[in-house]
Amino acid sequence: DNVDLVPLINHISDSLKPLAEELGVGIQISAPDQPVVVTGDRDELVQVFENLIENACKYGQSGGQVRVSVMPSGENDGDGVEVSVSDNGPGIPREHVPRLTERFYRVNVEASRSKKGTGLGLAIVKHILTRHRARLIVHSTVGKGSDFRVKFGAPQR
Ligand code: ATP
Ligand code: MG
Repeated sequence: DNVDLVPLINHISDSLKPLAEELGVGIQISAPDQPVVVTGDRDELVQVFENLIENACKYGQSGGQVRVSVMPSGENDGDGVEVSVSDNGPGIPREHVPRLTERFYRVNVEASRSKKGTGLGLAIVKHILTRHRARLIVHSTVGKGSDFRVKFGAPQR
């Protein structure tokens, strides 16, 4: 199916408003006025962005900002699509980053004990993205924040 990521992400952000409010986090979306369409399974893509945005709210800075941007990737029309979910939270120490998508892997269980989770979210995200031939790229700087970026390839012609 063809899925327009713009309303999908707006909808997810609305559904996470109560959590964001509870944590004092603002969710800021930037997206083009035109549809940004990828080929895939709508429900699965909802799971992907729900987990990434929820994580950014939970593990980001309380009272901070979560930014979600939907953008074309590359120079040319039809080069593919990129979605970035970033926070200005504590970040993730470098040695943990490659393991984030392992099942049940959680960073600093001590500190995140208060934040409920099973450690499955990113494993599911990775699984779904592989099926969509999309990639997850994580940039994180301790003390500054994290950027989880999903790259969809150019559509098959
Ligand atoms: P679940 O998603 O199953 O409810 P979870 O959120 O703990 O549980 P994942 O979504 O797989 O599991 O995330 C794994 C771990 O990665 C988290 O427990 C947290 O330690 C770390 N993490 C994820 N996103 C961020 C982020 N934006 N900033 C800092 N740490 C993060
Ligand atoms: Mg999660």
